[in-house]
Amino acid sequence: MRRCRPLPYGTVRIPYGYVWWVSEGVVVPYDVIVVGARVAGSTTAMLLARAGLRVLAVDRAAFPSDTVSSHQVQVPAVARLARWGLLGRLRSAGTPPTRAVRFDAGRIVLAGAFPASGGVDAMFSPRRTLLDTVLADAARSAGAEIRERFRVERLVWRDGRVAGVRGRCGRGPEVTETSQLVVGADGKRSLVAAAVGAVAYREQSVRTFASYGYWSGVPLDGGELYHRPGCAAAAFPTNDDLTMVYVASPLSEFAAARRDLDGHHLRQLDGCGDLGARVRAGVRAERLRTTPDQPNVLRTSFGPGWALVGDAGAVMDSVSAQGIAHALADAESLAHAVVAGLSGSLPLAAALAERHRLRDRTVRPMFDLTLRLAELRSRRVDHLMFAALADRPADAERFFGALSGTVPADRFFTPRTVLPLIGAAGWRRLIG
Ligand SMILES: Cc1cc2nc3c(=O)[nH]c(=O)nc-3n(C[C@H](O)[C@H](O)[C@H](O)COP(=O)(O)OP(=O)(O)OC[C@H]3O[C@@H](n4cnc5c(N)ncnc54)[C@H](O)[C@@H]3O)c2cc1C
Repeated sequence: MRRCRPLPYGTVRIPYGYVWWVSEGVVVPYDVIVVGARVAGSTTAMLLARAGLRVLAVDRAAFPSDTVSSHQVQVPAVARLARWGLLGRLRSAGTPPTRAVRFDAGRIVLAGAFPASGGVDAMFSPRRTLLDTVLADAARSAGAEIRERFRVERLVWRDGRVAGVRGRCGRGPEVTETSQLVVGADGKRSLVAAAVGAVAYREQSVRTFASYGYWSGVPLDGGELYHRPGCAAAAFPTNDDLTMVYVASPLSEFAAARRDLDGHHLRQLDGCGDLGARVRAGVRAERLRTTPDQPNVLRTSFGPGWALVGDAGAVMDSVSAQGIAHALADAESLAHAVVAGLSGSLPLAAALAERHRLRDRTVRPMFDLTLRLAELRSRRVDHLMFAALADRPADAERFFGALSGTVPADRFFTPRTVLPLIGAAGWRRLIG
């Protein structure tokens, strides 16, 4: 634990160009407190600590621990993990790479590969027990203090700014920690976002519920994606030679499905080629996880003394499997802004505002595509496009790039792209 040294009021420059905030004669012990230490929080803490900032990241959970989330890590996110020196640990823990992918839309099946990004040509599906622990360890190695089993109960305010957090470890006494900036990386039901009143400027009601489980004896040649009316499914290889099998179903079916969630999951898979039969022939390794808690919200991501990162600031349906990739990219852009703001090279508010604009520009196309996918509809235009892609491997690869986030979704799913693919005859059938 760092000691607080009495100093005059105001700010003081210290080596490395950072500014320590001195309040009521005491040096604020942390530059940044991060609430939540999974993918968004630990990544933010790691990058800030690597830049020389004093960081405390707290989480009510202890690591390793699981969370309700499947875990396809898309190629651009894998490239980030590689750049940060963390991919090796995931690989050495036996996380298999996935290069080939099949997209099965019923009558049409597209087979190809995920386009490379940042020198990486595979996606990985590491269990969250592994991924989140690797990130928390990396943050700790970089010099961040990671405090597990610490639940934040409220924020500390001073002169209209967020100035810290109050919380406790288990049933221990209430503890106050202060910092120049508090980052909410506390997930889709963020306490920080609620406490600061972060404005939800784009919000859509929940569209699907998700269920996923793990089977052995279900070998795969690569990733498998299924697109059916009322169902989206995915199967990917993960650690311990297991196959993770995910299903998204319309929220309207949840009440009925609750009576037999396992049966519902398998019946949905029965509609996906031979996947249901292969899963039924395998051995279930763990219980099924199911959740209808799939909000779609974009929130303002900063204000006086606070910022949001990951699901806390932008959350979308799991059907597109983009949350982890978003969290890592978002953490990186937040870390750049915070380092610029606290080193004095830009006013912090201006740096956070610029990063918010960037986040909004980047996340909106995928947010819109995710909402479309979450309708779980089978549109005629989609089938015309899939039929055209079946004869054009290069365009099919761009399609896989759009699904995995390598090709910006708004540059692929446009009339300008789709119409040349389906041609005049296809267009006439579409509108006729
Ligand atoms: C069913 C399902 C499947 C998914 N599948 C995928 C997928 O395949 N690929 C993908 O990329 N994304 C997937 N996602 C999305 C992904 O899980 C999230 O986007 C991602 O976990 C967000 O990371 P985060 O760090 O922002 O939040 P979280 O992972 O939710 O972490 C928030 C942390 O904050 C802590 N916390 C919260 N409140 C407090 C508090 N008051 N005090 C202290 N700590 C607190 C929590 O304990 C938690 O550890 C899926 C989501 C669901 C629901």
